[in-house]
Amino acid sequence: MQWLAVLVAPFVGSFLGVLVRRLPRGEPVGWTRSACETCARPLGAGDLLPIVSFLALRGRCRTCRAPIGGFHLAIELAAVGVALAAVALTPESQRVWTGCVLGWWLLALAWIDAEHMLLPDALTLPLILAGLGVAWLDDPVTVPDHALGAAAGYAAFRVVGAVYARLRGRDGLGEGDAKLLAAGGAWVGWQPLADLVLMAALSALAVGLGVALYRRRFQRDRALPFGPFLAVALWLIWVWQAWSSMLADRSG
Ligand SMILES: [Zn+2]
Repeated sequence: MQWLAVLVAPFVGSFLGVLVRRLPRGEPVGWTRSACETCARPLGAGDLLPIVSFLALRGRCRTCRAPIGGFHLAIELAAVGVALAAVALTPESQRVWTGCVLGWWLLALAWIDAEHMLLPDALTLPLILAGLGVAWLDDPVTVPDHALGAAAGYAAFRVVGAVYARLRGRDGLGEGDAKLLAAGGAWVGWQPLADLVLMAALSALAVGLGVALYRRRFQRDRALPFGPFLAVALWLIWVWQAWSSMLADRSG
């Protein structure tokens, strides 16, 4: 059953593409893109098969031949990558779909943050509720730990953000990052939050240094979005927790 997630993934990726394009512009989000972005020709069912249509049309619009751009293909492939990772890394088949949903949700958030330095409330706030809901379904006793995680995650980043803004005179950690860390606490509880932040910060530092070396100079004013690093760290810690709880169940 878990391989079904890999088959569904391109369609989810296609929807995520629409979400990533339209949500930051405040446009209504439909289930599919409806028209060519260049000539506005309405797209038919044959244009909307994820990955397959792109390859069949060789990446061009059927009517105006404008290049469709790799964006939709890239996010569809990324969604497949998330599903493959969830199937490969999640220890129990009943958790694979949870891992996929969390991964796809974080993929949309990370992508929007990378492009726009923005983590929309429309995605972060429901992710907090979803994390608490999953904790309740999993084991109602753990809900207070997860609620505390959400509150602590939000508060910690708001404090750090305020101190940073006072010291540097500009925003470094946005409110969106605080809401994403709140979602992190809701999903994994308060216990691993410090590890989550450390993991995200170290990987952001490594990538920032890599980018700076590549360009051979530091661009101090060019801030790196933190959301993608938080997203990856959150997903990996969720997987790690799934393994630990499975091993605990087996030995106990
Ligand atoms: Zn066109």
